[in-house]
Amino acid sequence: MSITRIDSNGLNESHYSAEACIVWCFDARTSGDLDGFLSNRGFTRADVIKVAGGAKALAFNQSVAKSAEEIEAGLSAREFLLNQIETSIRLHGPKLVVLMLHVDCGGYGYSKAFSSPEAELTHHENELEAAKEFLANKLPNGITIETVLVVR
Ligand SMILES: [Zn+2]
Repeated sequence: MSITRIDSNGLNESHYSAEACIVWCFDARTSGDLDGFLSNRGFTRADVIKVAGGAKALAFNQSVAKSAEEIEAGLSAREFLLNQIETSIRLHGPKLVVLMLHVDCGGYGYSKAFSSPEAELTHHENELEAAKEFLANKLPNGITIETVLVVR
């Protein structure tokens, strides 16, 4: 077995407080947008959780699921993501959680899954609201939730 060793500079620094916990899609096309967002805010110590669909899992609505398997998968994905956010808060104490979605996301079947660009934007705005509402009921008081929609 071969293990690649990396000598870290960052790990020589001490424990940190995060300015934000950021949930972002792993779509590499949006990596530059994340860099720009962090730079604009002056964030240098953000906990970034990159998962397929970004905040999609938090918006899961059991009532629209089509099967028991879909419900189980949706609840499981939501629980995983919630746990990641809670762990960031526990370890690094961010007072801000950022929830991101983007257009043309594979997690939603890309833009072609929507009847129009406007329909896609409206759908994603509703998803972000649902994700925010779900999360707000789970997190302790004093944490702000910001939603971000990355568009063309
Ligand atoms: Zn995506």
